[in-house]
Amino acid sequence: MQLSSLLQRFNEPETLKMAKLGRELRAKGFDITDLSLGEPDFDTPDHIKLAAKKAIDENFSHYTPVAGYLDLREAVCAKLQRDNDLIYTPDQIIVSTGAKQSIANTVISIVDKGDEVIIPTPYWVTYSEIVRMAGGEVKFVNTSIKNGYKITPAELEAAITDRTKLFMFSSPCNPTGAVYSKPELTALAEVFKKHPHVFIMSDEIYEYINYDGAPGSTEASMGKHESIAQFDFLKDRVIVINGLSKGYAMTGWRLGYIAAHATVARACEKIQGQITSGANAVTQRAAIAALTGDMRPTQKMITEFTKRRKRVMELVKDLPGVECSEPQGAFYVFPVVNQYFGKADGEDRIENADDLCMYLLNKAHVSTVTGKAFGEPNCIRISFANSMENIEKGFAKIKGALEKLS
Ligand code: PMP
Repeated sequence: MQLSSLLQRFNEPETLKMAKLGRELRAKGFDITDLSLGEPDFDTPDHIKLAAKKAIDENFSHYTPVAGYLDLREAVCAKLQRDNDLIYTPDQIIVSTGAKQSIANTVISIVDKGDEVIIPTPYWVTYSEIVRMAGGEVKFVNTSIKNGYKITPAELEAAITDRTKLFMFSSPCNPTGAVYSKPELTALAEVFKKHPHVFIMSDEIYEYINYDGAPGSTEASMGKHESIAQFDFLKDRVIVINGLSKGYAMTGWRLGYIAAHATVARACEKIQGQITSGANAVTQRAAIAALTGDMRPTQKMITEFTKRRKRVMELVKDLPGVECSEPQGAFYVFPVVNQYFGKADGEDRIENADDLCMYLLNKAHVSTVTGKAFGEPNCIRISFANSMENIEKGFAKIKGALEKLS
């Protein structure tokens, strides 16, 4: 069978692959503790579910406008003003079937064959692969635990060339949990000011899952999020990506959106119009309830994540020879595990992060994700979007398995 050459240009998401392997082992009867999850382990809040039920009864069963219902786009604008002090009009908002589609629309709208796209590592798995699908060239800029996994203005300046078309990043970051402060964003914005040909994709999907940055803080801190779109001289070139998956525990509903210059928004609408059309009608009605409704369920979820983060930092520090920064946002830790490379338990030999993840899955029955998937081969990603009980159990099993390596 001769399939397209496009398929050779990109990889399938390692995160989904790991979840699949875990499910397969579970189906065989193994007690797998899943610490590979990229989604909140909470249920969607009741007032959002009610809005969806009402929408079904009111027959929201027809095609929707490609860009999204106008009242939803108005709700997105109101949210951006309320939370981020950003002024957008509904013609600058495009609603999609998940932030992943928003990212794909954005990249396809902006990147031509041969264009360079700068992505600081570690990065979310999909960024590089969508750029490759679009025919762009990915230019990674490696950050490390030493600078909090954040790109510096000097590194950014050095990476930009005449061919740079787009810069893609997330804050809070999946997988590192790094959050850019206002002074850090200001410094990056000053660099972009000198290079008006560069677009900036700012993925803010973890906006609400923000821990104030205080070490060991148990105080949840919503509303501290800073967007790079706040700089007026840059705003026309920034594409803000956001969605409901993380902040409202709505991963399966599939709703994301962009806020961008109207020209970019129109381009995304044009692409989406030929691929999926408008997002699901019922989900869009539910999204209005989410964006305009009670934020207490979100706050409750963050309070729980905050407690878990504190405990996870204790547990990760207790793993022999592992170095780990404290995440300021999102719900992952991203420990450096390269001390285990070259070691063996008498049976399995660990050469890299992939081997270590497979070892933890097969021997400890804990699923995690290799850092290689995020462009950082010295780390693994451990999610704390699981109950405290499972976190305790998972870390105990990880510790036991690591202790067997020498
Ligand atoms: N951006 C980041 C950084 C993510 O982690 C995810 C989900 N894992 C997405 C975007 C995509 O989210 P959605 O479910 O809205 O497609």
